[in-house]
Amino acid sequence: MAFELSKESVQSDFIKKIEELSGEEISACYHCGKCSAGCPSAMAMDLLPNQIIRAIQLGDIETLKTSNTPWICASCVTCYVRCPRGIDLCSIMEAVRQMTLRTNKDHIDIKKYTGELASLPPIAVVSALRKMSS
Ligand code: SF4
Ligand code: SF4
Repeated sequence: MAFELSKESVQSDFIKKIEELSGEEISACYHCGKCSAGCPSAMAMDLLPNQIIRAIQLGDIETLKTSNTPWICASCVTCYVRCPRGIDLCSIMEAVRQMTLRTNKDHIDIKKYTGELASLPPIAVVSALRKMSS
């Protein structure tokens, strides 16, 4: 579905909620790209970290819900350290994950992995369930 940019989309409650959850001002990002250039997980992401911020600025909720980027983000803080505006992208990624999980849509279906669970480190399973399911 094509995204329709409108005054309502850029002033939506969704953006306000992301700002409330993350504690960050989304409009502060001017897309210098330093976060994306330094992100160690960028090669596995379908959208670069600053493109996630752009989608939030535009109110493009569907793109945010379907992107794998917030789930791939390792919360390593490299982007935060590099950002000239001091934007904590880790908190923004967490806010996007929470907003997606609040639609009752888990990112992983644990039932699909029952055969492999015994071979996985328990701490990795617990960590993944905390991050990727509601
Ligand atoms: S480094 Fe900061 S200002 Fe630059 S694109 Fe990333 S979040 Fe935006
Ligand atoms: S916190 Fe996430 S987005 Fe930022 S550099 Fe690390 S992996 Fe990339």
